[in-house]
Amino acid sequence: MRESGFETDIIVIGAGVIGLACARALALKGFEVIVLEAESLIAAHTSSRNSEVIHAGLYYAEGSLKAKYCVAGRRALVDYLDAHGVTRNPCGKLVVATSGEEAEALAGLKARAERNGVEELRLITGAEARDMEPALSSDVHAALQSPVSGIFDSHAYFLALEGDLEAAGGHVILASPVESGAPDGERLCLKIGGETPSEITARWVVNAAGHRAVDIAGRIEGPHRAGLPVLRFVKGSYFTVSGKTPFSRLIYPMPTSASLGLHLTIDLGGRGKLGPDAEWLPPGASPPFDYRVDPARAEQFYASVRQYWPGLPDGALMPDYAGVRPKLVNEGEPSGDFRIDGPGDHGTPGLINLLGIESPGLTSSLAIADHVAAMAG
Ligand SMILES: Cc1cc2nc3c(=O)[nH]c(=O)nc-3n(C[C@H](O)[C@H](O)[C@H](O)COP(=O)(O)OP(=O)(O)OC[C@H]3O[C@@H](n4cnc5c(N)ncnc54)[C@H](O)[C@@H]3O)c2cc1C
Repeated sequence: MRESGFETDIIVIGAGVIGLACARALALKGFEVIVLEAESLIAAHTSSRNSEVIHAGLYYAEGSLKAKYCVAGRRALVDYLDAHGVTRNPCGKLVVATSGEEAEALAGLKARAERNGVEELRLITGAEARDMEPALSSDVHAALQSPVSGIFDSHAYFLALEGDLEAAGGHVILASPVESGAPDGERLCLKIGGETPSEITARWVVNAAGHRAVDIAGRIEGPHRAGLPVLRFVKGSYFTVSGKTPFSRLIYPMPTSASLGLHLTIDLGGRGKLGPDAEWLPPGASPPFDYRVDPARAEQFYASVRQYWPGLPDGALMPDYAGVRPKLVNEGEPSGDFRIDGPGDHGTPGLINLLGIESPGLTSSLAIADHVAAMAG
């Protein structure tokens, strides 16, 4: 038996960082907001399986949503973290070039990032980079220094977002998987499964279901279904570096089309971590995903990382965790963009779909949320 009769202004599907940030922004505008989360805890998927890096906004195509929201989101995120006492380390980052060709490409990366509004970038020589980080290879020809990049305690951030939402009268309801939906007059009615199946109607539904966002959008009736994309999934595995890490900044190689390269990040405790790599899951793969890390992938990590860190000791890498990127492009295609579709885009009243929110989604979350709040406003 389904319980029926719940009504609210806005339902957000998914309590990852995007759903929480959108729900908070909407609740602060005075809407009654309910977040429905399939799992029994918040941020159970991609939001807890990433590098926790505050990205400056270096990599994204000019005019893309990624470029726009990363830069705006980063500024908003830093202010938010500081205002809420959430720990961050503004350690900065070096993108290192290990060949003459890559060194030339660095200048292009810098110019594009500056056009996107990224501040304080500096091209430095290999020697300057080694002065900052002596463990870098003598093969490092040049580097791009980004002082505004950093790391932060993402879990404390999620709790702060949830706290703001609740203080503004909103709620997160756990263990409540959305199964389907249909128009109900001027509202949308969602069917919710779990132990106590129920129905809720709302003026707006914000679909922030991450890996399942396209699937859920397809289960809600309306003209938007005709234009839904296919998601491809790319697993990224991480390895921990045992022992003390000789770096105090984030070290990134040059990016590829699917990933930012096998980079070295440090966590807030100073522990070193390498990854994520990029393993395209077969077409048709769908959640739930196997998040275990295959120890055999370490071999590729040693080879790749030693190009910029030759002193990485044998046996130092231990399998850690993995995340899965939801992508709107196929293997070999240029990196895609976020897709945020509202009624004006797809024709279904009251529905906002957030699709392909891969990196830099964490950094962009507050800017994406402002955009969604304006759409529903
Ligand atoms: C390997 C990796 C590294 C990354 N590193 C960074 C980084 O360093 N910096 C950065 O800015 N970004 C990074 N990102 C990107 C960032 O992590 C994501 O953009 C962000 O976490 C996406 O959040 P989300 O809320 O959209 O998705 P999720 O966190 O996956 O949340 C979606 C939620 O929806 C729920 N859900 C699904 N189906 C239903 C349903 N039917 N009913 C109700 N709930 C449902 C899920 O349970 C889940 O909790 C990285 C991503 C990956 C994969």
